[in-house]
Amino acid sequence: MDIELIAVGTELLLGHTVDTNGAEIARVLGALGVRVVRRTAVADGGEEIRDAVAGALRRSGAVITTGGLGPTSDDVTREAVAELFGAPLDFDPGVWNALVQRFARLGRVPVESNRVQAQVPRGAVVLPNRWGTAPGLWLEGRPGLVVMLPGVPYEMRNLLRHEVAPRFAQRGSGRVVRSLTVRTTGIPESTLGERVADVARSAAPLTLAFLPGVEGVDLRLTAWDLPPAEADRRLRAAADLLTARTAPHAYGEDDADLAAVVLEHARARRLRIAVAESCTGGLLGGRLTDTPGSSDVFVGGVIAYANEVKVSLLGVAPELIERHGAVSGEVARAMALGAARATGAELALAVTGIAGPGGGTPAKPVGTVWLAVALGDEVEGARVLMAGSRPEVRARAAQAALFRALLRLRGVPAG
Ligand code: AMP
Ligand code: MG
Repeated sequence: MDIELIAVGTELLLGHTVDTNGAEIARVLGALGVRVVRRTAVADGGEEIRDAVAGALRRSGAVITTGGLGPTSDDVTREAVAELFGAPLDFDPGVWNALVQRFARLGRVPVESNRVQAQVPRGAVVLPNRWGTAPGLWLEGRPGLVVMLPGVPYEMRNLLRHEVAPRFAQRGSGRVVRSLTVRTTGIPESTLGERVADVARSAAPLTLAFLPGVEGVDLRLTAWDLPPAEADRRLRAAADLLTARTAPHAYGEDDADLAAVVLEHARARRLRIAVAESCTGGLLGGRLTDTPGSSDVFVGGVIAYANEVKVSLLGVAPELIERHGAVSGEVARAMALGAARATGAELALAVTGIAGPGGGTPAKPVGTVWLAVALGDEVEGARVLMAGSRPEVRARAAQAALFRALLRLRGVPAG
């Protein structure tokens, strides 16, 4: 089955909002064997929406729209599509009641303009929205199939998962497009490419994509147009091979987060974690506490941005800073030991570096970062050189610190 996506919203054309909905829908539908053949963005206008939907139906027979279902005057998707189908809009008391109850739970009362959100084109199936006010609408008729979803990504995502995907799964061809991603870090893309060159060749009909980002390089395997069981079997075998070839740099699959992996390893060994952060200014602690349930492992730390704080709160000897500079292995190691001492944590991570854009020297250019990991009283440091802008250097530094911690936890020798 082929389908087109239409993102409705002037903000998308102005570039103020990125159409993440389209990307998300394409991934979910692809996994069900529904091929997205075109994506369009249109302004909040009745004529624009009608033309776009009519064109998509002529070409492909099916379309999903997102956006323009809200209560304000710029939300006109419902009317435009109803008009195209020649379907009058009926007030649906069930939808209205659900909306009133939702507002009541939030301590609010709907206003008159909310009533349009209870208008349903005659013949449409209502897709109940427990995550917001405007329900999705599934309208199938002579012109074709139009599924209307709200624009708010959180609501769109839930309606897609709970209401839309199951309906498409029932009509499926039995063949799917499915991906599995092996996440790696601490290894350059070109080195990875060489290590897995033969896997890439032998994986056919799967394809392999290299996706570099600040957290490392993701290796995305995709199975195209295969029966689900065969797709899963081939993806599993290829991913296992990639993981073996890229050891110790592969740390998880799909949306695995390195901070969560580190916490998991520490938890299994009953170790508590602390941080001492200079150039990352709290990013590392942020990464760790983004993970639900981190409180039984992560105890806290010190943002030691100024040298005085490195001395006063982490006990770094001033002579070390004078002799080697704040960005040095000596200071990073002393910071890690200081964080462990100050908090009582068994595992401490320290980061000190030059995030830029200023402050670099020939010996220590922008992007120079020293990391240290203390495990008990054994502390190891590592120097890394990060590329990119200031935010990128900082994000890469936090990821690199987590990676050093993972290597220590796994007992991989420093190198
Ligand atoms: P709407 O349902 O049109 O009122 O959209 C509500 C909000 O959802 C907008 O203000 C955008 O921030 C967001 N939004 C709308 N369409 C998209 C889209 N295609 N991708 C991501 N966000 C969107
Ligand atoms: Mg809108």
